[in-house]
Amino acid sequence: MKSKILILFCGGTIIMKKGKDGALVPIEDRDDAIKTLMNLEPRIKELADIDLKFIADMDSTNMTPAEWDQIIDAIAENYDNYDGFVITHGTDTMAYTASALSIALQNLGKPVILTGSQIPALELHTDARRNFVNAVRVATMDISGVYIVFDERIILGARATKASESKLDAFQTVNDYDAGEIRIDIQLRPNVPRKHNGKLKVVKGFEPDIFVTSLTPGQDVKDLEFLLDNDRIRGIIIKAFGTGNLPYNFGNFFKKAREKKVPIVVTSQCLHGMTKMEEYDVGKKALELGAIEGHDQSLEMLAVKLMWALKHHGYEEIKEVINTNFVGELKKRKQARKQ
Ligand code: ASP
Repeated sequence: MKSKILILFCGGTIIMKKGKDGALVPIEDRDDAIKTLMNLEPRIKELADIDLKFIADMDSTNMTPAEWDQIIDAIAENYDNYDGFVITHGTDTMAYTASALSIALQNLGKPVILTGSQIPALELHTDARRNFVNAVRVATMDISGVYIVFDERIILGARATKASESKLDAFQTVNDYDAGEIRIDIQLRPNVPRKHNGKLKVVKGFEPDIFVTSLTPGQDVKDLEFLLDNDRIRGIIIKAFGTGNLPYNFGNFFKKAREKKVPIVVTSQCLHGMTKMEEYDVGKKALELGAIEGHDQSLEMLAVKLMWALKHHGYEEIKEVINTNFVGELKKRKQARKQ
């Protein structure tokens, strides 16, 4: 029997056209936009029985947690009627949406696959057809969880990052192996979870007012202390140096953050890397002052988890939420000291 797949249409380059000034914009007419996607490959119906639900037609730059909640609701409402879900989405914030769905759709027993393209579907050399067809193929497989299917990769949504703005191989897995590979056949890693009939639990809602900042040498810490005077900012992520190191003069900043109950999460600003904050005294001191260590989690996941934690938990519980592994986004490694 053919699988039943629901496509959730969210826009992105895949369905964009050049406007009068040459810049890419979403196709204005909603029916045209949907037709453009569904005409990409009419034989897609051989793979699965497909329905489509329109969520939005937007550049994903403009997406907010309100759209994440709409996607979550659409999956929850249709969960029992479909074998899998494919979300067509802009690439710019796809990894954030994938992280949000990974945290909000708990005990997910079916595949939720995000895809899009770097080149619009209407261009001759588009990567849209291949990505879309492969996303539907993966959505019909015995696999559960949220994934990005893009170019030749199947990436756990909770560890995804957009690594290139122009390569067709645009996404990478942060601090882990890919979950699978699109080859002549589709290969999944043995630890990829299979489908199950457990009950889906939905915990949606994200607090958008967080702030992410990257340290630069010699930056005046007072500039960061001012951030704490802005009561709208509910949580801060600092992209610190190396293994999660901050200068010694952050004492007042952390004191003020504790008083104002603003959680401070620390991640590494290295292109490839994770925090090991006990490795150097400069990191260890920040931990002692109350920094929450991000470990091997992607920036996208840390941002989404902080937003989610702020909505559903009190200040005292945020650290525990950040340090909880939900779906494979966090593997705490033993902190090996350098010899
Ligand atoms: N700006 C586009 C978006 O995120 C980029 C893309 O889809 O590739 O919607």
